[in-house]
Amino acid sequence: MRTTAEKYREYIFPAVGAYYREPVTMVRGEGKYLWDDTGKQYLDFFGGILTISVGHCHPEVTRRVVEQAQTLVHTSTVYRIKAMADLAERLAELTPGGLKKTFFSNSGTEANETAILLAKLYTGVQEVVALRHGYSGRSMLAMSLTGHSAWRSGGTHILGIKHAHNPYCYRCAFGLTYPNCDLRCAQDLEELIRTETSGRVAAFIAEPIQGVGGFITAPREYFQVAVPIIRKYGGLFICDEVQTGWGRTGGKMFGIEHYGVEPDIMTFAKGLANGLPIGATIARAEIADSWKGPTISTFGGNPVSMTAAMATIEVIEKENLAHNAEVVGSHLRQGLLALQEKYPAIGEVRGMGLMIGVEVVRANKEPAPDLVLEIFEKTREQGLLIGKGGLYNNVLRITPPLNITKADADIALNILDQAFAGLPR
Ligand code: PMP
Repeated sequence: MRTTAEKYREYIFPAVGAYYREPVTMVRGEGKYLWDDTGKQYLDFFGGILTISVGHCHPEVTRRVVEQAQTLVHTSTVYRIKAMADLAERLAELTPGGLKKTFFSNSGTEANETAILLAKLYTGVQEVVALRHGYSGRSMLAMSLTGHSAWRSGGTHILGIKHAHNPYCYRCAFGLTYPNCDLRCAQDLEELIRTETSGRVAAFIAEPIQGVGGFITAPREYFQVAVPIIRKYGGLFICDEVQTGWGRTGGKMFGIEHYGVEPDIMTFAKGLANGLPIGATIARAEIADSWKGPTISTFGGNPVSMTAAMATIEVIEKENLAHNAEVVGSHLRQGLLALQEKYPAIGEVRGMGLMIGVEVVRANKEPAPDLVLEIFEKTREQGLLIGKGGLYNNVLRITPPLNITKADADIALNILDQAFAGLPR
């Protein structure tokens, strides 16, 4: 019988990469733990890329998903779906400002596709502003929006997208230092629009914290400067909460709530349904109404994903997990800052709540992706799973389920301490 590794080599697109020199096959998950096919247990501090919000196979979510799967799995949207209407109502209640009507799909990519098309339909304008180092997904439009060459296979597929400088203070494109920079990166949007577009834009799409980009965290005033410029030129603000949504950033449900700006459209996926496929695009009513359709997503709004999302939101609320993300996140962050004192390879610790990035560098601040690979091997051996990202692949991404404890954080910190200690000097 051929092994999973052999079947991968023979039958899976090689474009699908996996972590670690010897990729791992996971066979079971429970709470914060995963087990591989050799029986080894791991503390999961990546959560399937910020998707396991409330722990693997959370009993309440699982119970309701199983119940739904035994009752009704699929009808398509040609018949009304109660669970979809219920979840849409919940999203309208929980999201900030006047966000009201939702379109459900199956992934973050589709959620962003929907948002961009909707903004174009509403404004009648084609041009869109995205951010360098941003990530929007894997369709041709979403890849064209993405600001990382590695994730843009085939080049630019969709025209009319302009990439603005991102608020990457650790490596400021303008060579300035916050807060004495006057938010130059945000101010530059005005010149970008006036020089690179027809003078009107349909939308500005941005993540409150750039996820794949390596948890690049905008300064508190960034969106208050950026969004009015976009609106001045007729554009909508699309806030991609695919990674930052649902309590991840601590203390609030959504990343953008830390910035005091209300989006016109918001997109969700990943952590909303704790691992079941889902995408959601919520917009102000008059924006949603401007799409006359028809449009359909066969699986979008399916009862099983809707039920999983509703149960996940209920667990997040009942267990006060946005608060826990703030408290435990701050503890974890303090621990990482202490490691930064010890290890010059830690250039910056950033992020919010339980979305923490650690930028790994050489003495001259040059990105050190090779050291990240070393840390990956060592943490895996010690039974800790973390993620990585960044344009230079040199940022550790630490994103456990929102219900971990300080003791779990301490275990992870101890393993990371040992991993950094073992790096070549
Ligand atoms: N937006 C952001 C911010 C993401 O991080 C991702 C996925 N990494 C996407 C969109 C695309 O989501 P999906 O992979 O579900 O299509």
